[in-house]
Amino acid sequence: MAVYSDEAKCREYMEQMRWGGNPTCPFCGMNKPYKLKDGKRYRCKDSQCKRNFTVTVGTVFENSKVKLSVWMAALYLCTGHKKGVSSHQLARDLGVTQKTAWFVEHRIRLLMGDPEPDVAMDNVVEVDETYVGGKWDKMTRSRRKKHQESGKDNKVAVMGLLERDGKAKLTVIGTNTFKEVVRQHVAPSAVVITDSHSGYVGLNQEPTHEAVNHLAQEFRRGIAYTNSVEGFFSVFKRTIFGTYHQVSPKHLHRYCAETSYRFNSRKMTDAERFEMAISNTKGRLTYNQLIEKK
Ligand SMILES: [Zn+2]
Repeated sequence: MAVYSDEAKCREYMEQMRWGGNPTCPFCGMNKPYKLKDGKRYRCKDSQCKRNFTVTVGTVFENSKVKLSVWMAALYLCTGHKKGVSSHQLARDLGVTQKTAWFVEHRIRLLMGDPEPDVAMDNVVEVDETYVGGKWDKMTRSRRKKHQESGKDNKVAVMGLLERDGKAKLTVIGTNTFKEVVRQHVAPSAVVITDSHSGYVGLNQEPTHEAVNHLAQEFRRGIAYTNSVEGFFSVFKRTIFGTYHQVSPKHLHRYCAETSYRFNSRKMTDAERFEMAISNTKGRLTYNQLIEKK
């Protein structure tokens, strides 16, 4: 917090992380731009391009009224806390409104996305499913009525996949079948371990598949156990119930990304975790995209 208290230092740090001391135009990729007098902006040297830019263009920090020093503090708090920080707590810590803190946190969750989403999981992969949300008795009467009238099941199924000695991932199952989700994330050469849920029946034809029958009191058979992925779920549930209390199905995939990030970086120091998130600054999320406003 002390190191990144000042705007100029934060900017310098961002430039170092993003460009490694070699500023590059985000529009055309040209190096060595002119530095403008305000100390923030650069102008591209390319005669066709000539555009002005700052280090935040094309990142989650672009066009934000929130100061860079506040972003850095928010990033430090969100990546450092084991079970996340609620937007109310973050608002108090940073001296901003809850609405701002909520938006800042969702943008930060974008940085927590899997840096290698296309790398399939391999070796031994434990797979399990869990359900989030939907306790009728905990809802207000009007909310419950709205949900019952919509006729939709209020619970959302989430699949956890954990490669032993590798990365772990949480993903919202949505309209896919269990097998489709497994095939999407796991290499055909992997050994997949699940419980005896009927949704996984038939997997054994492709990746090697082992099922542990929890109903028949079987929990471990050689390498066939799902205890690690169940531990991962317990972290997820503690994050959801303990910190955020209520998560809308619309945003659930973002909380999944956050928990996965936290689990995968659990052996890193706070500083390493912070740097991993900040080096993942590609992409942008506008407020309207976030609330899915048409
Ligand atoms: Zn350019």
